[in-house]
Formats: sequence, structure tokens, C-alpha cells
Amino acid sequence: MIRYLIDASATSSHSFAVELGVPRPAAEQRLSLPVWIPGSYLVREFARHLYALRAEQGGRAIGLRQIDKASWIADCQGDADLVVRYRVYAFDVSVRAAFLDATRGFFNGTGVCLRVEGREDESHGLALRGLPAGWEVATTLAPRGEGAGPLEFVAAGYDELVDHPVELGRFWRGRFDVAGTAHEFVVAGALPDFDGARLLADARRICEAEILFWHGPGGKAPFDRYLFLLNAVDEGQGGLEHRSSTALIAPRRELPRRALPGENAKTASPAEASEGYAGVLGLIAHEYFHAWNVKRMKPREFARLDFARENYTELLWFFEGFTSYYDDLLVARSGLIDAARYLKLLGKTLTAVAATPGREVQSVAAASFDAWVKYYRGDENTPNATVSYYAKGALVALAFDLTLRSEGHGSLDAVMRRLWSQHGGGPIAEADIAAALEAVGARSYAAEIAAWVHGTVELPLEALLRRFGVEIERQPATVAQRLGVRASESALTGVKITHVLRGGAGERAGLAAGDELVAAGGWRLRRLDDLLRSASASAATPLLVARDQRLVELALDAGALAAAAAGALQPRRVDSASAEARALCEAWLSG
Ligand SMILES: [Zn+2]
Repeated sequence: MIRYLIDASATSSHSFAVELGVPRPAAEQRLSLPVWIPGSYLVREFARHLYALRAEQGGRAIGLRQIDKASWIADCQGDADLVVRYRVYAFDVSVRAAFLDATRGFFNGTGVCLRVEGREDESHGLALRGLPAGWEVATTLAPRGEGAGPLEFVAAGYDELVDHPVELGRFWRGRFDVAGTAHEFVVAGALPDFDGARLLADARRICEAEILFWHGPGGKAPFDRYLFLLNAVDEGQGGLEHRSSTALIAPRRELPRRALPGENAKTASPAEASEGYAGVLGLIAHEYFHAWNVKRMKPREFARLDFARENYTELLWFFEGFTSYYDDLLVARSGLIDAARYLKLLGKTLTAVAATPGREVQSVAAASFDAWVKYYRGDENTPNATVSYYAKGALVALAFDLTLRSEGHGSLDAVMRRLWSQHGGGPIAEADIAAALEAVGARSYAAEIAAWVHGTVELPLEALLRRFGVEIERQPATVAQRLGVRASESALTGVKITHVLRGGAGERAGLAAGDELVAAGGWRLRRLDDLLRSASASAATPLLVARDQRLVELALDAGALAAAAAGALQPRRVDSASAEARALCEAWLSG
């Protein structure tokens, strides 16, 4: 068995000490660390945190040559076990790498476990030692079992080993069963008034809704157990999906809290989730949905992952976008947010995509393929160069769902279930998605796939939503929307342009990302809104910007701010909708 011994005692140097044992090594045994972690499509170069690497055999040091940024060759002789020792610097609070300090430890195998090339399909053991007193372990790695200690685990192969993140420390834990499957929730870093019972009850409703979604009444989840690892932090939100667990980060102030002495329990913990908590519930629903959609049903290109380089697929619009469509929708179907709140969240997605000129130059299929260098490496030009396959992918899902439902041929739910059952929860290609749409929808969807997935035309959502008694209301454009820029503003930094959107008044005036907008029409700007009062409607307005320490004069077109720029889009149910439209809407929102 390939064995990893991971020591977590060096909390103050934030480093794990790793000992890797390889029985019967090859004469030139290659070892390498993944350059990426599945689910997050960016080359992260985990090897940059690996140091003090050395190898021995039979107690004697042997040669170890580095052959590229993440690979080494050990010069072995004979059958004696190869033992490799190294350290991994672990001070990344994200869900994607590794972290160790005196309060908590966390790691994904992709950042910590060197891959023994050619031996990936053998069983891999992992043992922990050196845990500070009182620390516990939470992971879905299988216990090694008979005769082994509580800190010893085993995986059938390398891919399995690195798909179970490990949380270490003193944390809150709670459990619930859904459809006969044990679920556990672990929360690190919560405030003392954290209401774990409420979080468990709400997460349970989401899990019930999702198992029902995929398998119908009486159905069972395709995993034996499931673990939510939530790290509560001051700032930040995100998650990463795994086959039977997920690592989440959420703001601790958004988690449910218990009533203070003398406080009404309903004030502390209202039945309707707050906006921030609804976001946490959406995150839980999203990552849990991935246990089906991307961890089991997955792009054919991901059937065998290559840890040494980018793994390309055009299908993230489906695996991320459709998962994003269903996350908030299933929170609504669980009864944790109402229809009005759901439509508000949908409005945010509609607004975000409408404010992305990149949707006119890149399709969601191309954006999926390009994720490695565009979506995941965002810069000031990202909104002009690409479109989020999460946000637009969710709207593509909405367009398919509403079309199927309004034509009276099933729903996208039925398409998802058909894909699952036809492909045994395994790899699929775009042709399989097209075939499932055709089978459920009783017609070809080739034209829609070409236009919505591979094209850049506007999605016909306004007309589709109208058939469900939902109108898209246009809110007045903000000054940033009228200028065609994104900006940050604060008393300290003033108004700073972060993005200049293609074709907007800001671009025509010559604004650039990084500019500080100092004055307009001879008046100092404190906030972007001040521009409305100092800009002229009938003549060009002089703008003064600070750029690289120089003051630069620009001019804003006459009437630029009055132009009919798009404001936020807010779908709302119309009271006067027909009974048929209301029935369609009810069926859509209740599943
Ligand atoms: Zn996702």
C-alpha cells in the first residue's frame, strides 16, 4: 500500500510534515504534485508550497532529481521501500489548498500528497499524527478499519484519496439522516451564539429536496454518507464540491444565531432566511447538487483526470450553470425562501449577465473551455472578454426549463433525471444533453443549443417569463451603469474606476481602469452620484482624473448620463396574469 503519514504539529510554522512510503518502487520512480484541484479550473501550482524534499531507501539517502515544476524522479535500487519526506507550507484559508495554525487545520490531498506515478490505482493509506491536544478530525475518507487507529484512513486509489478534504481542530458538529443516508455538518470558527440546530434543520430540508429531485419518493442518494465542512470566517464565501463531502466558507455573521437573554426567538431566528443566510443556503444547495452533477454525472473529458495540466471541457455551462440554476430554485422549493425572494435572486443573475459586454463576444461553451485563462484569471477586461458560465449557464437552464414547461412537454427536471438514469450517473457529452432534451421535449432542441449555448444572441427570457405571469421590471440605471463603468468608492480612495465596459460613455470619454475620478465640470467628486449634479446635459463635461500620479483631462459627451442605459432587471409576478400562467408558475417554482 502507498502510505502517507501527515504530521500536523508544526502549527506555528503553518506546515505539514509528510512522510510517503512506496513499497517496491520503480528504478526511476516518478513523483508529482497536481497543478490543479478538480472543481476549480485554474493551474494553481501547489508545488510552490512544497519544500525540504528528500528520499531514502533502506535507511540510506538516495538521489532525487526535479524534472519540472511539480515532478521528481527518485533513483531507486532493489525492492526496499522508498521513503520520501517533505514539508508543505499551509496558510491558504480557501477551500482549495491547505491551512494550519493553532486554531485549525485543513487540507486537500491535491496540495499535500505527492502522486506516485504508475501506482495511482493501488490502495492508498493516510495516517495523521501530531494533532494538538483536543483536536478532532472530520473527513469522509474511509477508516482503515480492523486493528488500525482512529487517525488512519484508506482510499482505493489516488483520485479517491484526494477527493476527500480533511478538517482538523475543535469544531461544532451535528448530524441528520435523509432517506437512510447519514449526513454530518461540521462548523469551524462560529460565534458562541451560533444556532447549529437551525442550520441542521434547514440543510436537511435542502438535502431532502435534492434527493427527491434526482430519485423521486423513496429514492436513495448515490453515496453512503455526506459531510459538510463549513469554515465560518469574517469575510468571504465559496465552496468546492467532492464526491461525498464539500468544503464551504461563509461569513460567520450570516449564520443563524440563538436568541440573546430576553430576546424573542423569532427575532433572532426568523422563519424566512435573511438575505445573507439565503446566500449560505444557496451555497449548500449548490455544492450538494454537484454530488450528482459533476462528481458522478460529469463531462466525458473528466472520466480520467490529468493532474499535470489543464483539463478542457466545453460543458461547464451545464455542470456549473445548471447547478447554479437549481441551487436557489431548490432552496425555494424547500420552502426556505418564498417566490418573491427567489425572483429577486433571479433578478441579480439577469442584471449581472446584462451588464457583461463579454456575452456578445463569447458563448457559454467557449467560456467553459477558456475558464482556465479567463473566468478564473479575472482582470479589468474580464467583463468585456468573457461571460460567466455560472450566471449565463443558469439563464440557459431557465430558458430550457421555461420552454419545455410552456410547450407542455415535461421540464428541465425530467431532462436531468433522464440524463442521470440513461448514463448511470456517469460521463456524458453534449450530444447526450441534446438527446435528453429531444426525448423529453418531443422535438429537437438543436436550434436552441446552437443559439443559446454556442451563440451570443440574447436569450428570449422576457417572452418566456411572460407566459409564466412574470414581467421583467427595469429599474433606473445607476450612474455607473449610465457611464458603462464599474467603480469602487470610499472616503479614503475617492471614486476609483475598476472596469470600463465596451461601448459605454466611460470608454468614449477615455476613462481607464485604475483612474481616480477627481472632478467633473470643475467640481470635486466625492461620490460617483455627484457626477449627476455636475455634468452638463447640453455640452461636453470636462472630467479630471488622476492616473499614475498625473492629472489627466478628459471630456464626457453631452447628455451621456441621460442615455437610456440598462438598470437592474427585476422579475415580478403580475397580479393580472391568466389562470394558465399562474398554474405554470406554481408548477415551476414548486417542482
Ligand atoms: Zn459549482
